[in-house]
Amino acid sequence: MSNNGHKTIELPANVTVRQLADLIKASPIDIIKQLMSNGMMATINQQIDYDTAAIVVSEFGFEAQPQIVIEEKAEEEQGPTAEWRKIIDREAAEDLVVRPPVVTILGHVDHGKTSLLDAIRKSDVAAGEAGGITQHIGAYQVVHDGRKITFLDTPGHEAFTAMRARGAQTTDIAVLVVAADDGVMPQTREAAAHAKAARVPIIVALNKIDKPNANPERVKQQLSDIELTPDDWGGKTMVVPVSAKQKKGIDDLLEAILLIADDTSIRANPQATAAGTVVEAQLDRAKGVIATLLVQNGTLSAGDILVAGKVYGHIRRMFNDQGKVINDAPPSAPVSILGLSELPNAGDLFRVVNSDREAREIVARRKLALKEAAAKPAKGLTLDQVFAKFQAGETKELALVVKADVQGSLEPIVTSLQKLSTDDIKVVILYGETGNVTENDVLLASASKAIIVGFAVSADQAAQRLADKEGVSIRLYDVIYRVTEDIEKALKGMLEPEYKDVLIGKAEVRQVFRIPKIGNIAGSYVREGEIRRNATARVVRGGQKVFEGSVSSLKHLKDDVREVRQGFECGIGLNGFDGFRTGDLVEFYAKEQVE
Ligand code: GDP
Repeated sequence: MSNNGHKTIELPANVTVRQLADLIKASPIDIIKQLMSNGMMATINQQIDYDTAAIVVSEFGFEAQPQIVIEEKAEEEQGPTAEWRKIIDREAAEDLVVRPPVVTILGHVDHGKTSLLDAIRKSDVAAGEAGGITQHIGAYQVVHDGRKITFLDTPGHEAFTAMRARGAQTTDIAVLVVAADDGVMPQTREAAAHAKAARVPIIVALNKIDKPNANPERVKQQLSDIELTPDDWGGKTMVVPVSAKQKKGIDDLLEAILLIADDTSIRANPQATAAGTVVEAQLDRAKGVIATLLVQNGTLSAGDILVAGKVYGHIRRMFNDQGKVINDAPPSAPVSILGLSELPNAGDLFRVVNSDREAREIVARRKLALKEAAAKPAKGLTLDQVFAKFQAGETKELALVVKADVQGSLEPIVTSLQKLSTDDIKVVILYGETGNVTENDVLLASASKAIIVGFAVSADQAAQRLADKEGVSIRLYDVIYRVTEDIEKALKGMLEPEYKDVLIGKAEVRQVFRIPKIGNIAGSYVREGEIRRNATARVVRGGQKVFEGSVSSLKHLKDDVREVRQGFECGIGLNGFDGFRTGDLVEFYAKEQVE
């Protein structure tokens, strides 16, 4: 409280109408009205400056104070959600060079992910010669046709999506393993959904073709059903038959990966400050923290000082995936390093900084930010927030994960939800499946800023806990039409509100007063409705509009008032208009939201 009885409020240099409304717990409409009465037409997402905001909040009984901002680089502000693609986008085009693709292997349990990763690794003669004992650091590179490919060695979409939920964008290409004898299974569908949500191209490895009961044609049919139509069936998905066990088709698979890589612009700037993602980390009693890093931009060098999440350190020693000591690691190289102060998390982003001091400062700041963030619910989205993002022009999509009790209810729900798409907003079903809401669903929703919709199912306890932590909204329903009704309502809310002018009252000018320095005031009588200071006024003479503008003053007797009702007298001043005549009508229009 300040000494004049007003509540004080800190305002930033710029604030949107919506943010301001949130700050003072007022309706954005009231703020817009208040701005209009000050002669400013604003939309809900419009930025207004400090001075304007200060005037507006004073009308609501607040005293504004400039917010003190601790300088922070934009990159830091975004923290782990900074997308690498954006970082790369900032690089000048001429500095970008092709880098090896980074590949993740996904698929249903027992379909052969681990066996395939093994077979690929052993396909590289050079890698095989180097040791024989395979050094697992969580990622490795192979050379095919003289070109490198990086594989992330933790198979499964849980790891993939957990990293993505932390903001890491590591994977360029996903290999979806489908056993030819077993076909498309629930986790195959789930994995495909996760890769699609991440907008990562998918290659299918049709594994176990050596098995007598392998049925590739049936699998291709199933793949077509989940929108992964094989290219030999007229679709776009490359389907490569392999046998991880007999090490057959591995070269074809690597060939396919390189083809897709050529199709996709996979680039980085080796000259930039090195940055990337922590793939995994462990504590070794003798050596301390051993962290596997994937370099995604720049070249990482021994001796560099780096910050990874909320830990930092000097790179004491650096090894490649075959355990050889190296001094420099270019983009897409997986390396393990010694020298970090503490264990970083898998999925944390890292970057090289200039000095120890800078590293310590960043870490201190991040720890503080994390403490503050822990007090607040996290980064998931409610329908309202999606709506806000839509309004801010940040998204034109509503992403949903749909769970239902049986296939018979899932299909109509998915179809009717998809039908809610309009030209302005697209409803994207990331994943639709039967069964309760699981942790994986929450991870997918969190990583993709999606909302979970469940019909006649419940959320597992673990899923609910994770959803609370990640701030993901789970909406459960028991009546089918309520699902679509609810989402439709949310989508309607997503549309920018439209306003129309509504006549709220009329006053008749009975006498014109000249007030020195201010101008002419119309002494009037309210004939109909109510007139308001924050409305738009239209002066009508003999049925013709002679002026339209905002109200500069509205008085009843000697008092400044917000409104005057029918049957009362008042003094009206208009901004930029002095030509009142006795007998003029002043019509008052308010902006009203069109449903
Ligand atoms: P993951 O759970 O997807 O990692 O699957 P694994 O790699 O552990 O493989 C599951 C089982 O399938 C193991 O018993 C493997 O030996 C077997 N397997 C994997 N690939 C092949 C293959 O190409 N042919 C045959 N016949 N068996 C395979």
